[in-house]
Amino acid sequence: MSAATTLHTSDAFVLRTYPYGEAHKVVVLFTRSGGLVRAVAYGAQSKRQKYGAALELFSEVSVVYRERQGQELVSLVACDVKRLHFAATSDPVLMAMLAYWAELTSELFPAHQANDPAYRLLAAACDLADRHAQTPRPETPDALMVYVETWLLRLAGFLPDWKHCARCGVDLLSTPAARLSADGTPGCTTCLAYGRDISLPARRAYAAIQRQSPGDFWHHAPAADTLAELAALNGQLVCLALERPPKSRAVWQQLRDGMASVT
Ligand SMILES: [Zn+2]
Repeated sequence: MSAATTLHTSDAFVLRTYPYGEAHKVVVLFTRSGGLVRAVAYGAQSKRQKYGAALELFSEVSVVYRERQGQELVSLVACDVKRLHFAATSDPVLMAMLAYWAELTSELFPAHQANDPAYRLLAAACDLADRHAQTPRPETPDALMVYVETWLLRLAGFLPDWKHCARCGVDLLSTPAARLSADGTPGCTTCLAYGRDISLPARRAYAAIQRQSPGDFWHHAPAADTLAELAALNGQLVCLALERPPKSRAVWQQLRDGMASVT
């Protein structure tokens, strides 16, 4: 091997694949030790059995890849399945949720920068989604959705400080009224004349998300109207972070609303 190439080994989540020429695929990986990586899986189109289920959405894999200095795409050398999330990805609503997390992860985080808390968050959240698919509970997945979205925003540096007014510093967990400005700044209503009102339960739920595990938050979730408010607030923050509405979030919303109308 020439001096300009490096071999890396890591655990990784498969976020997305797309065709690369006639025979190959590019696999967007969120690796534990190297963050976002785009890897060419040679022969993945022409010889599908070569990779089996390893390239399914949110498969957790153990990869070896070769990086060539100055090149954005790396080459996949080995890719072995560690864990699949077939239960979650067989359920259309949960599948749409995972696809949205994958889009958000691949768009919010910079390439080649490890983020171990984000990796552990996705691992825990996928396990919870799997368990939900296997033994459905009465809860909707909405609280898990909001939890993961909030944490991905936070870990990527796009979640504002919900505890204090950005202008005067007043404690937003005790003030009766608060707003989120159009540019994504939370504040008290004295400082912010315009913006989306944020209810006290929503502010408290943001605080709970940041100190509870995903399972605890989900199983002691706030009321449905508070979750809907958090989803709307997060939607605004995600659009600001990405500078566009994410496609997969609308798909999730449609399927989610369809589920609500049949239950
Ligand atoms: Zn203020």
